[in-house]
Amino acid sequence: MADFDLGLVWFRRDLRVADHAALYHALTRCRRVLCAFVFDREILAPLPKTDRRVPFIHASAVELDHALRDAGGALIVRHGAPLHEIASLARECGVQAVFANRDYEPSAKARDAAVAEKLAGAGVAFFTFKDQTIFDHDDVLTGAGKPYTVFTPYKRNWLATLTPDALKPYASEDAFSALAKPPSSVKHAIPLLDALGFSATHALALPAGTSGALSLFDDFHDRMPDYHRTRDFPAVKGPSYLGVHLRHGTISIRALARSAHDAQRHGDRGAETWLSELIWRDFYFSVLHHFPQVGVPGDHRAFKPEYDRIRWETGDAADADFVAWCEGRTGYPLVDAAMRQINQSGYMHNRLRMVVASFLTKDLGIDWRRGEAYFEALLNDFELSSNNGGWQWAASSGCDAQPYFRIFNPVTQSEKFDPQGKFIRHYVPEVAALSDKDIHAPWRAKPDALKAATIALGADYPLPIVDHDTARKTTLARYDVVKSARNGPSV
Ligand SMILES: Cc1cc2nc3c(=O)[nH]c(=O)nc-3n(C[C@H](O)[C@H](O)[C@H](O)COP(=O)(O)OP(=O)(O)OC[C@H]3O[C@@H](n4cnc5c(N)ncnc54)[C@H](O)[C@@H]3O)c2cc1C
Repeated sequence: MADFDLGLVWFRRDLRVADHAALYHALTRCRRVLCAFVFDREILAPLPKTDRRVPFIHASAVELDHALRDAGGALIVRHGAPLHEIASLARECGVQAVFANRDYEPSAKARDAAVAEKLAGAGVAFFTFKDQTIFDHDDVLTGAGKPYTVFTPYKRNWLATLTPDALKPYASEDAFSALAKPPSSVKHAIPLLDALGFSATHALALPAGTSGALSLFDDFHDRMPDYHRTRDFPAVKGPSYLGVHLRHGTISIRALARSAHDAQRHGDRGAETWLSELIWRDFYFSVLHHFPQVGVPGDHRAFKPEYDRIRWETGDAADADFVAWCEGRTGYPLVDAAMRQINQSGYMHNRLRMVVASFLTKDLGIDWRRGEAYFEALLNDFELSSNNGGWQWAASSGCDAQPYFRIFNPVTQSEKFDPQGKFIRHYVPEVAALSDKDIHAPWRAKPDALKAATIALGADYPLPIVDHDTARKTTLARYDVVKSARNGPSV
């Protein structure tokens, strides 16, 4: 006997039918189930027409609609304010309960609280489920019942807490018979991308939807055993490139973690390292949940409050440096190649995210929040928790961040992780003719070498906008304020 006659699954960042917690719970608790997705007008309105993520979401919603139709349902798609759209859909259709997967971002939590309240006022129940993460809220806490602030013990406990049940897929497909078509009076067609204000010509080269995620995962699966050896080299096809799919839930995190966990139990070191990255993802979600001050809209705070005392560079010179960094014109080829990669594709390799974040904060002395916002605007896989965690890791202000006196040398990083300059040559053709040795620091090349490569530094390619050794000293002095702050780390 079902708990409800009619339920509604509200899809958000979980655009798939397979192994979907909210869908499964709705199908097993309701006699009939409708499905809906809302393009949030407030989120979309400020985005440029060329934003690459909206076509990805749109294509994924179209694929989801097809999957639901094949199973006997359909996706009702609206463009508006979720608070209004979900409440009015519930009213129009006579829904008794709304089911959704949990979101951890402060603004999403506020939205969900408002929706729950409005629905409750109309006598409609609102249920949320863990789906984006393997563990959430208080699943993995210290012995004292506190959230972890260091990754390694978190990971140890995460692995100890892992039972086969935590990775078990939700068998939504067994209950598809409860899927219902929307009443004919309910407008439900998917708006065209143009009608949403976006251009299809800027669609991602990446395949969208569950089919796209599965093809990437198939491709990665055979490379997973080498992940620990290949993951740091941007010119090598090492990582999975699944970030955008995890962001929009076109593939289940349980399926990915299950695959990595099974392989690591059979001694696969690549799988073990990859699983560790998935655990970092859970860790940063946990940090955002327990310490929401790091991600308050418009006012992101340092995880370690004393780091908010740092005086970052401001003014015209800093603004010019910031623009040079954004445009890939710093004179450091690896940094420039990385910034051109994100500008051209919306993706940046993890090693390079660390390199450019360190360069912005510790070579240019620019507030990490400016870099964080730039990534937010461009990354296809933008995830508030991981982006904030990554930036605060690089700036040393974060939860389990690198110590502030650890400053990446952009030339050494380049020599180590792009030894033949293959990645640099792809994105910075101006320096492509330099030797494998000179390409990492063109300003150190002999005049003859520059001449042979037909490069006039300062004309064809910029001279470095900052001297790393000088910047290092300035940064150590800048971060001195942290040492003297109350409760600051002693170094
Ligand atoms: C400054 C900075 C900003 C970042 N911003 C984001 C972001 O907005 N969104 C995002 O998903 N990741 C972010 N990361 C983490 C990491 O760079 C990306 O997850 C990874 O590069 C995505 O590529 P992939 O899917 O091929 O990853 P893979 O190497 O194949 O890893 C698989 C998945 O594990 C997770 N993962 C991997 N590394 C990390 C990590 N260090 N922290 C948290 N999760 C991780 C991601 O979900 C990733 O898709 C950031 C890192 C830094 C240093």
